[in-house]
Amino acid sequence: MDVTTVRAWIERATASIRENRDHLTHLDSAIGDADHGVNLGRGFDAVLVALNTKNPETPGAVLTAVGGTLISKTGGASGPLYGTAFRRAGKALGAAPDVSAELFGGALQAALDGVVSLGAAAEGDKTMIDALAPAVRAYDQAVAAGDSLTSAVHAAANAAAAGAEATIPMQALKGRASYLGPRSVGHQDPGATSTALLLAALAGALDAAGDSETAGSG
Ligand code: ADP
Ligand code: MG
Repeated sequence: MDVTTVRAWIERATASIRENRDHLTHLDSAIGDADHGVNLGRGFDAVLVALNTKNPETPGAVLTAVGGTLISKTGGASGPLYGTAFRRAGKALGAAPDVSAELFGGALQAALDGVVSLGAAAEGDKTMIDALAPAVRAYDQAVAAGDSLTSAVHAAANAAAAGAEATIPMQALKGRASYLGPRSVGHQDPGATSTALLLAALAGALDAAGDSETAGSG
């Protein structure tokens, strides 16, 4: 996975967040303050401007720039959490011009560790962790089984979508939704939902890149 594909990921992610802005905000209106889609939409719009200005030259530099922009431009709890995730992932990729399946696995794990260390949520607390943690597990399993980066990312995206849906019966124990106590049950977590969208955008970017790259180049 090269810098062009990573840029394409972020462009697809931004488009997906824009398309789903009302949906994410609607989910956040049930158990939060109805701003998740607006927060992320603003953050990713700023990300595109930053990338076009800075033109980072490696995959790691792109993700680091995304993280820094999300931290400074996205409101709510999700801005610093996603910002940290992208920054940690960028740092894990280092200066590599081409990202292997193994290297990206390290970046996903670093992203998860970053969110956990900042937000102190565990799986089952009804947060973005409930999408990200199973995604990292599914990714690692796929790579261990010999899958390509693209197919491992598809496994991760599917696990994240299932994880987001699995937040519906959970009671929120972290973030704003936890103020509702048992009334948070029965609604899908907005942050878990946006995590699944971000990983689906990556799967789409890798599929599109695969049409022009040789198989196995990662
Ligand atoms: P806010 O809750 O400040 O309005 P957003 O609406 O943008 O921020 O984001 C809400 C999402 O942030 C939640 O749906 C949840 O997934 C995620 N979140 C909140 N607190 C935490 C936390 N401590 N750890 C991980 N994710 C969290
Ligand atoms: Mg909110």
